[in-house]
Amino acid sequence: MKVPEQPRQFNLWINGNSTASASGRYITRISPAHDCPVTLVAEGAAEDVDRAVVAAKESFDSGVWASISGAERSAVLYAVADRLIERKDELALLETLESGKPLSQAGFEVEWAAGLWKHAAALCRHLYGESCNTLGAGTVSMTLREPIGVVGLITPWNFPLLIASQKAPYALAAGCSAVIKPSELTSATTLVLAEVLKECDLPDGVFNVVTGYGSPVGQALCEHKDIEMISFTGSTNVGKAIAATAACNLKKVCLELGGKNPMIVMDDADLESVVDAARLGAFFNMGECCNASSRILVQEGIADRFVEQLTTFAEGLKVGEPMEEDSKLGAIINEAQEQKILGYVQAGREAGATVCMGGGKVETEKGCFLEVTILDHVPSDSSVATEEVFGPVLSIVRFKTLDEAIAIANRTDFGLSSGIFTNDYNQAMKAARQLRAGTVWVNTWLEGHPELSFGGYKQSGLGRELGSRAVEEYTEEKSVLFSLGKRQPWW
Ligand code: NAP
Ligand code: MG
Repeated sequence: MKVPEQPRQFNLWINGNSTASASGRYITRISPAHDCPVTLVAEGAAEDVDRAVVAAKESFDSGVWASISGAERSAVLYAVADRLIERKDELALLETLESGKPLSQAGFEVEWAAGLWKHAAALCRHLYGESCNTLGAGTVSMTLREPIGVVGLITPWNFPLLIASQKAPYALAAGCSAVIKPSELTSATTLVLAEVLKECDLPDGVFNVVTGYGSPVGQALCEHKDIEMISFTGSTNVGKAIAATAACNLKKVCLELGGKNPMIVMDDADLESVVDAARLGAFFNMGECCNASSRILVQEGIADRFVEQLTTFAEGLKVGEPMEEDSKLGAIINEAQEQKILGYVQAGREAGATVCMGGGKVETEKGCFLEVTILDHVPSDSSVATEEVFGPVLSIVRFKTLDEAIAIANRTDFGLSSGIFTNDYNQAMKAARQLRAGTVWVNTWLEGHPELSFGGYKQSGLGRELGSRAVEEYTEEKSVLFSLGKRQPWW
């Protein structure tokens, strides 16, 4: 595939139609790998959010989606999964052009996203309340699960279609209507998703897309009185601001935020498998991954062999043109991110870390490409070891005992993911219990399944996505009580 000669232009998507923004302005996205314009997306503002919320609320109140059967909703979501696969090449190309990620990986992400639509389609028919028959002869009650209403979805740039698909299908499965704001850097696939939903007969107004900047578009969603819930994925700082704004009408907020995920490697670990997992964990998606294994805590006995093998293995990772089949790392999202990453590497050097590999820019004619970087002997309290770098930088911290490793692992405000490599199940179980994180991987990394919930402890988030209760997040619970026969008088 080649970079198209002309950028593709997208409007907002409101009430089942492509529509210009009130301002008539567009945001141009320059491919971070090719330095040329690849998409234009409409620059939305608060009045566009208003229009979208009106459409969403009308569709919700009409019951055209909220009141049909789970089976009917399920059929639409299954069709969406199939249609995403049919449009996979187009979606993958847009994702690569806007984000810089390798094209083969982008194709895999479309398949992964389609799998989430199928998972949500299955859950449509498994949303249950409870009944209570122990309230005495004159009373019986039931609980009803109802869609929460119009929801606002706000997504980041690192996995645009995938993260939209961790939210939208579950909100739709519940019967909600939605307004989504993707990152202005990577909006295209969310707009194609809107077309796909229409092709699959989702009623107009149920799914709306307002593109534009965090402020004003994301801000307006958080402030809107007719939005009942915000589901946000992004940075911890923006997540905190969103929670504060959403308090205006006590919206429910679900937050999936940053991480600084520790991978603990014990002396008895299988070296080959740990080296491969560390490489994947740290360098998948150029390290621009909330689940990145950006802190590797290695026990002293295995540390030298681990570093040697990891460096050899990592040298084989090709960084470059994301359209080439053998590129494992593509471009960094933009120059600002590139500078931020290089700043962390420099801070690591100044804190006394050794740069085993990389540490700088890849010299290319075009684009933002960074070297695969490995830092050893990183002080556990340095910024590169405690803050989210969001780049291809792996920091190695050495330790003596498992207790020490768990203490270092938990000494952070984040708590998204974590893991341990060991052949001793007692050590594995001890870590699984004591690590303060939403996911603990044992002898693997980055393995996710829609069946398992995902989310963060501490400042990595609020609420959970995926798993068997993913649809419940988008519902309210109502208690219904029946008095049988003649009511007991007050007195
Ligand atoms: P971000 O800056 O927090 O932005 C995320 C989204 O929020 C974007 O659409 C952004 O719009 C919007 N936004 C910005 N300010 C806002 C405001 N005041 N009100 C409402 N919305 C606002 O994050 P990012 O830079 O796109 O993505 C990287 C971050 O996401 C990393 O920290 C990473 O850890 C986190 N992340 C977490 C997960 C997870 O599941 N835990 C997954 C992926 C990424 P703009 O595009 O205009 O900024
Ligand atoms: Mg941002």
